[in-house]
Amino acid sequence: MHTVIVGGGFAGVKAALEISKKQLGKITLISDQPYFLHHATLYATATGRSTGESVVPLSDIFANHHDVDVVLDTMESIDAKQHIVVGKEKNYHYDNLVVAIGVVTTYFGIKGMDKHSFGIKTLDEVSEFKNHIKSEILSDKKLDTNYVIIGAGPTGVELAGALQAYLLELCDTHMVKHAGVNITLVEAAPKILPRSSDTASKKVQKRLEKLGVTVLVNHKVEALSDRTIMIDGKRIPTHTAVWTSGVANHPFFATQPEIFTLLDKGPRPVIVDDHMQAYEDIYVLGDNAAVPNAGVAWTALRSAIFIADHLARKMTQRPFKKYHYPKPTESFPIGDGWAYTEWRGIYAAGKTGYLLRRFMEKKNYLALLPRTQAVGAWKSHTIRESDVVTDTN
Ligand SMILES: Cc1cc2nc3c(=O)[nH]c(=O)nc-3n(C[C@H](O)[C@H](O)[C@H](O)COP(=O)(O)OP(=O)(O)OC[C@H]3O[C@@H](n4cnc5c(N)ncnc54)[C@H](O)[C@@H]3O)c2cc1C
Repeated sequence: MHTVIVGGGFAGVKAALEISKKQLGKITLISDQPYFLHHATLYATATGRSTGESVVPLSDIFANHHDVDVVLDTMESIDAKQHIVVGKEKNYHYDNLVVAIGVVTTYFGIKGMDKHSFGIKTLDEVSEFKNHIKSEILSDKKLDTNYVIIGAGPTGVELAGALQAYLLELCDTHMVKHAGVNITLVEAAPKILPRSSDTASKKVQKRLEKLGVTVLVNHKVEALSDRTIMIDGKRIPTHTAVWTSGVANHPFFATQPEIFTLLDKGPRPVIVDDHMQAYEDIYVLGDNAAVPNAGVAWTALRSAIFIADHLARKMTQRPFKKYHYPKPTESFPIGDGWAYTEWRGIYAAGKTGYLLRRFMEKKNYLALLPRTQAVGAWKSHTIRESDVVTDTN
């Protein structure tokens, strides 16, 4: 049996590892980038922590999995009748195809947002954001008048909580005088963390305000230029607006309507059956699938474990199980040593929440990497970037 997996993220990597563990035949993992990106720590990498905790080469992950062929390529289309994935470089024949290519950013048509905002969802975006901040501090010898973060979902609140310490550290390193940092977090919904419990929203907002962040809820960003941001008709000067809002399903799926049916709401994920199947022998996992609690890493990992078991059952003609996944634990680290962590209505905020968050991150790495590498990636959170000057070139 040849399983082709497209996407080297949480779902794709975990599916390849689990299928390999079960020895279900040859596996080809197609990824358009040579590394796995641990999104949950990108806010930390964007604010001066080591890239080691966010970026793991796929070759390291699969070093001991000789049945997994990792290929750097981009899927362009699928010929479902012939069982072929058409890549930019070559074609791949499959018996089973697993697609997990993640989501993309959408700017909801807000004027100037795509051109002038920064982001922290990819490694390139993180580098661009850090280079901008450093070049202002190094060349202009001053901080921006305002730092505006748009979208108070998990990424927005985590970045808002970590940014001030990073900016002050850079100022200290480069002997730049300042009169404090103005960080504003803007959210169009009536509360921050709109998809989480009211307790989570309140506790996290209180923490952010304690750290000096101005939190604006029920406020709409209307336009962005290279100098100002327009919020509810009011113009605020800034060169540093970070867009952390808005995701849409990968546009690939809409290009093949004969294979994929999309849910007509939210980010428009792909409709799958009880076995994560979207079309005969084609399975869709992670953020791409219209399943409960999609959009978080734990769900992506669970769907990958499920699919390996499903393919083993298919191969040995055993009865199938239905996909089922309970609500995952939520955790939001806000500044050094503090996090809000909630599981089924029970929460811990502060140091305990932070220790739980670190434990969750360790579990994530252990789910994907051999123990020594997992612990190495996890521990690199404690390393702060040292090579500040050369990074800006
Ligand atoms: C900034 C940020 C912070 C987050 N924080 C958290 C958190 O704290 N906790 C949590 O649980 N979740 C968090 N998430 C969500 C979590 O990262 C996602 O739910 C998870 O990554 C989904 O896994 P996936 O495998 O579906 O997609 P991804 O992990 O995004 O992987 C998709 C992969 O497919 C590749 N790809 C795309 N198109 C193609 C193509 N055509 N051909 C080949 N390869 C392709 C991409 O390059 C990528 O490697 C965060 C997400 C972001 C963006």
